[in-house]
Amino acid sequence: MQGNGTICWQVWLDAGHEGRIFTYSNPDHLLLAPGDLVRVSLRRRRQIGLVVEMVARLPQDLDPGKLLPIEAIHQKAAVDPLWQGLLQDVADDCHTSLFRTLKTALPPGWLGQHRGSAPAQPRLRHWVEPLTGTATLSPLPPRQQQLLERLSLQPEGAWMQEILREWGFSRSVVQGLLVRSLARVQSRAAPQRGSPPGLESPRRLNAAQKQALEHIVSASPGANLLLWGITGSGKTEVYLQAMAACLNRGESSLMLTPEIGLIPQLLDRCQARFGERVIAYHSGLGEPQRIASWRRCQAADRQAPVIVVGTRSAIFLPLAVLGLIVLDEEHDSSYKQESPMPCYHARTVAQRRARLCGARLLLGSATPSLESWLACRREPGQTDPGTTLLRLPQRISGQQDAPVRVVDMRLELAEGHRRLISRALRGRLDRLRDQDGQAVVLVPRRGYSSFLSCRSCGEVVQCPHCDVALTVHRHRDGHQTLRCHWCGHRQEPTLRCGSCGSTAFKPFGAGTQRVMEQLEQELEGLRLLRFDRDTTRGRDGHRRLLEQFAAGEADVLVGTQMLTKGIDLPRVTLAAVLAADGLLHRPDLRSGEQCLQVLLQLAGRAGRGERPGEVIVQTYSPDHPVILHLIDGRYDKYLETERQVRQQAGLVPFSRACLLRLAGASATATATAAATLAERIRGPLQEADWLLVGPAPAPVARVADRHRWNVLLHGPVGSALPLPPEAELRALVGRQVSLSIDPDPLAL
Ligand code: ADP
Ligand code: ZN
Ligand code: ZN
Repeated sequence: MQGNGTICWQVWLDAGHEGRIFTYSNPDHLLLAPGDLVRVSLRRRRQIGLVVEMVARLPQDLDPGKLLPIEAIHQKAAVDPLWQGLLQDVADDCHTSLFRTLKTALPPGWLGQHRGSAPAQPRLRHWVEPLTGTATLSPLPPRQQQLLERLSLQPEGAWMQEILREWGFSRSVVQGLLVRSLARVQSRAAPQRGSPPGLESPRRLNAAQKQALEHIVSASPGANLLLWGITGSGKTEVYLQAMAACLNRGESSLMLTPEIGLIPQLLDRCQARFGERVIAYHSGLGEPQRIASWRRCQAADRQAPVIVVGTRSAIFLPLAVLGLIVLDEEHDSSYKQESPMPCYHARTVAQRRARLCGARLLLGSATPSLESWLACRREPGQTDPGTTLLRLPQRISGQQDAPVRVVDMRLELAEGHRRLISRALRGRLDRLRDQDGQAVVLVPRRGYSSFLSCRSCGEVVQCPHCDVALTVHRHRDGHQTLRCHWCGHRQEPTLRCGSCGSTAFKPFGAGTQRVMEQLEQELEGLRLLRFDRDTTRGRDGHRRLLEQFAAGEADVLVGTQMLTKGIDLPRVTLAAVLAADGLLHRPDLRSGEQCLQVLLQLAGRAGRGERPGEVIVQTYSPDHPVILHLIDGRYDKYLETERQVRQQAGLVPFSRACLLRLAGASATATATAAATLAERIRGPLQEADWLLVGPAPAPVARVADRHRWNVLLHGPVGSALPLPPEAELRALVGRQVSLSIDPDPLAL
C-alpha cells in the first residue's frame, strides 16, 4: 500500500460503452474512498470518474511517477454499495452495463466528460431546527430560552437569516442552543419561492380512504399495493397522508408522476402540506438545481426525512431511509425509457428498490395497467405475495360517473353531414354558455391537420428525412408551414406534387388547429383555448394554460391527450372526443388498453364539480369493444376480456418480448448489421425456447436520415434473455450502426 510512498487509486472513466478503469496517483493526499467522484484528465480531456478502489500494489510495469494525478473531489460518497447493487440489478434487467446505468442514475454531467470548471454548488443556507427530547439540567440564559420558545412554535425550524434579521437573535445565542444539543443546523438549498405561510392540515378521510391508508401504513416492508380509484376519488390525499405517516417514522418518500407538466401542481400540494421538506427532481430543472436536489436527498436521514416529487429518473435518487415509493398514474407509458439504454421501466425499478430497501410501493391509477391488475389476483400455487388491491369507488364530490353518448359518424356521413363536429356535439356546445359550463375536446393529433395529400394522385407530402407525412401548422397571420413531428424538419408548403406535378392539395385528418377553426366558424362567440405541445412549451406552460382555463378565460379547451391529465376543472360539464378512431386503430398490442385508459381519463374530466357531466364520443366504430366498455364504465371487465385474449394467444404479459433496435446512416449497412445480428442469436434463442421475428424495417423506417431496423424476440414468461453480452452484440453490428436493446418494450 505504501509502495514507494505513493498511494494510487483506480478510477472508472467514460471510455467505450462500459467505461474503463484507469489508475491515478493522489499527490495532494485527498481523503478518498470508493464511491467518490473525482476529477482527472484522460487523453488531455477533463473527466469525472468514480473511485473504485485503492491500489494495494502497483503492477511492475506501472511507474508511479508517470501516473496522472487525481485533481479534485467532485462529490464525496456519490455511490454506496446498496445503491450500486440496485443499479447492477437494473443493468442486468436491461442487458446493459453498470456504467451506463450509473450515468443515468447520477445527475446529468456527473460521470463522463467534465464541462464546467467548478463543481456546481447549490446556494446553501443554514436552517435551524429545534431538537426535542433533549433535557436541560441547568437553566438556560434568558436569550437562549426565548429563542427556544420561539422555535418551539415552529417545530419545522427556521432559516438562520430569519432568526438573525427578523427575530433579532445573535449568532452566539444560536450557538448556545447548538452546543447544548437543543437545536441543530443543516445546510439547505435556498427556497425557490417564498416559504409557504403555514402548513395546510390533512383532510378528514372518508371510509374508503381511511381503509386504504391503514393498509398502506401497516404494509410490511417491500410490499406492493395498487390504489385504484377514479379521478377525483381522493387518491392524492391518500398519498399525502401516507407520506406524512412516513415522515413521522423518520422515513423519506419518493413520489413519481409520469408527466413533467403535472409536477408543478403536485409540488404545490406537497409543499402546502410539508413545506421545506419537499424536493423536486425532473428534467425541467437546470443542472445546478438538479445537483442541489440530489445532494439534499443524499443528506436526508432519520432526523430529517424528505418528500421527493419527480419524474421517471427520480426513481434512482439516493435516499438512505426510504419508507414509501408512490407511482401516480402507474399505467402511463412515460414511465418507460425507450432510449438511450438502459431501457428501464420505473415501475420495475421501483419494485426492485422497494424489495431491496424495505420500502412500500404504492401504485395509483384510475385505469391500472393490465400487468398491475393481474398482480393483484392470487393464482393458486402462487408464492410471491403479489400486490394488494385497494379501491376508492366514489368521487369525493359524490358525483356519479358522467353518462357516455356515442355518435356514430357513419350515420352522420350517410345523412350528408361531413363536418368534423357532429350535430349532437354542436348542439351540446351551443347550450354550454347558457348553462355556464365548460367543455374539453380531445383531438388525438396536434397541428392543423395530419397531412397534405395531392388531389390528383393521392401522394402524401413526406418529410425529406423521415418516412412520415409532414403536418400542416397554421400561424396567426394565416401563413402555413409543414413540420415533421419526428425530426423537427420545417418547410414551406409544397407547390407542386413530387410525383405527378399537380398543384392541387387537400388537407387530411383533423389536428387541434383545424378543429379550433371549425369550432370558431360554427359556434360564434365561443371562447376557445388550444392545449397541445405547441402551446404548452416552457417550464410552467402546462399549468399556466390549465389555470387560465380553470379561471374561466375560455369555454372550450381543445387539445391532445395531455388534456386528460392534470388539475381539477370543476366547471367542466362536457368532455368530448372527436375521432376516437385515431386512438382505436393503432397497430399495437396495447392500443385497446391505452385507448380505453385515455377515454376513461377524459370521461373523468366531466362533472367533477357540483354539476353532473356528460361525455360525447364521435367514432366510425361504435361497436368496438373499447367503446362498449367505455359506455358501461366497467374497466375491470375490459381487463378481464383482454386477459383472456392475451393469455390464449400467449401474448405479453403471458410471454416476454425484447426489441433490438438498429439505426444507421447507410441503408444497406443497417440491414446487413440486422441480418448478422439475427444469425448470431438464432441458435441461443432456439435453445432457450425463444422465437425470433425479423429482422424487419421499423414501422417508421427512416427518422432524421437514419435507417431503422428491428429484431423482435419472444420468449416464455419469467425466462431470462438468452442474449450474448451487450459488448459482443455491439461489436457485431459495427461502429456505423447503433444498437439499443429494449427488454419488455411497451410498443409492440
Ligand atoms: P385524485 O387524486 O383521485 O384525483 P384528489 O386526492 O385530488 O383525487 O381529490 C380530489 C379533490 O377532493 C381534491 O380537491 C382534494 O383536495 C379533495 N379531497 C380529497 N379527499 C378529501 C376528503 N377526505 N375530504 C374532503 N376533500 C377531499
Ligand atoms: Zn400528385
Ligand atoms: Zn422528419
